[in-house]
Amino acid sequence: MESVQSKDASVVTILDPKFKYEVAREPGGENIKYCFQCGTCTSGCKVAELDRKYNPRKIIRMVILGMRERVLASDFIWLCATCYTCHERCPQDVRIPEVMNALKNIAVREGYIHPAFRAQAELIAGNGRLYEVDELANERRTDWGLREIPQGSPEVAEIFGMTGLADLLSGGAGGTS
Ligand code: SF4
Ligand code: SF4
Repeated sequence: MESVQSKDASVVTILDPKFKYEVAREPGGENIKYCFQCGTCTSGCKVAELDRKYNPRKIIRMVILGMRERVLASDFIWLCATCYTCHERCPQDVRIPEVMNALKNIAVREGYIHPAFRAQAELIAGNGRLYEVDELANERRTDWGLREIPQGSPEVAEIFGMTGLADLLSGGAGGTS
């Protein structure tokens, strides 16, 4: 790895020249090195239009430059709506939404999980579903002749355990910048 001092002496960016190879080895990231920075992806991205912080061309550039920690600890890699508009238009078949998935997968393994996704995963782990079905809701269900829905789901908890998701949620660096 290489440290680069920016103009602002307080900011040091650690560059990892192998990061692009790491992303290219990850399922979905295989074509990242084909990007020639035309910007077509960003110009047609609805998320980028709404939030300037999100710029798929720039994210790919940051990966190629080796800005590993800056990318993995960011919240912008989580903003892609996976609409595939850029995928249809990219002249280099970089497959940006899949690259974003590859980055998210690496980020999660490193302990960087966006708080919103962490909260959703914890709800699913605890309830077996995204929304808790409380006592009141179950009383209503009974009134309507529907069966009660149990709290929690051992099957979902087992899947979280088998896939390592439970460990990822309980440990790691957590959060994003
Ligand atoms: S459209 Fe494709 S080649 Fe152009 S900047 Fe985006 S990812 Fe790179
Ligand atoms: S897939 Fe993601 S990066 Fe591509 S246009 Fe849609 S939101 Fe933007």
